[in-house]
Amino acid sequence: MKTQNNRIRLYQQIPGPLPGFDPVWPLNIIPQTTNLSSWDNSTTWKHSIQAYHALEKVDEKFQQKINYQFANINIGTQTSFGAFASRSSIPKTAFIVFGLDNGGILNGPNFALYDIVAHELGHCYLFNNIDYDLSEPNAVLHEGIADIIGTYVENFILPNGTDWIAGGEEPSIKTAIGRNHQIFSCYTDYDLTDTHQKSRAISNWFYSISDGIPSENILSLGIEQSKNITLEAVNRITDSKASVYTFKNI
Ligand SMILES: [Zn+2]
Repeated sequence: MKTQNNRIRLYQQIPGPLPGFDPVWPLNIIPQTTNLSSWDNSTTWKHSIQAYHALEKVDEKFQQKINYQFANINIGTQTSFGAFASRSSIPKTAFIVFGLDNGGILNGPNFALYDIVAHELGHCYLFNNIDYDLSEPNAVLHEGIADIIGTYVENFILPNGTDWIAGGEEPSIKTAIGRNHQIFSCYTDYDLTDTHQKSRAISNWFYSISDGIPSENILSLGIEQSKNITLEAVNRITDSKASVYTFKNI
């Protein structure tokens, strides 16, 4: 399961725990077939097919709407976790992983949903400008902008646009993630270790300027202009340890 030029490659059931920096995955787990019978309706195959399909849609929008083309995208499937992005030292190279583990449920729902795939690919894109330092608001900035990219890309794939909820298409994933970008969230509401919840202050800012909040006199700029402002700010970041405060003042 790969493109003919090897730009996109799917590795089925990657070995080991969460991949670290510069993962190396064996080429022999890239599923291939010369007949129709090897890709059956089992969970493993359905998982791979959904992940590959979602990635192709998301990759297309990255090129069309974000004007960014990855040179190489590696997708790993796994059973034992949700979704993850690894950093690579090779320019424009993405390593993203999608699992089936929603709170320990074996063979649970597939995390390869459009906004989650775009969120993980968003992390790979952001590594060009921002590190992911867990001890700093740096990681929170990463998560917030990854959610903005996830929502933005989903908006151009789902027939009715984005629902502004991370993983909103799969009820149990939606509940487990708990990130509705429409709900107001304050940066100081959460502990720094809770990067995904803390980042809701950023994704809620994006929702607020996109759709507008009349009662607060916040005008609607529309999702396109709001995306342009966000990416312009990302491009202006010169310190890879930038925090949410840098982003606010840029
Ligand atoms: Zn993330």
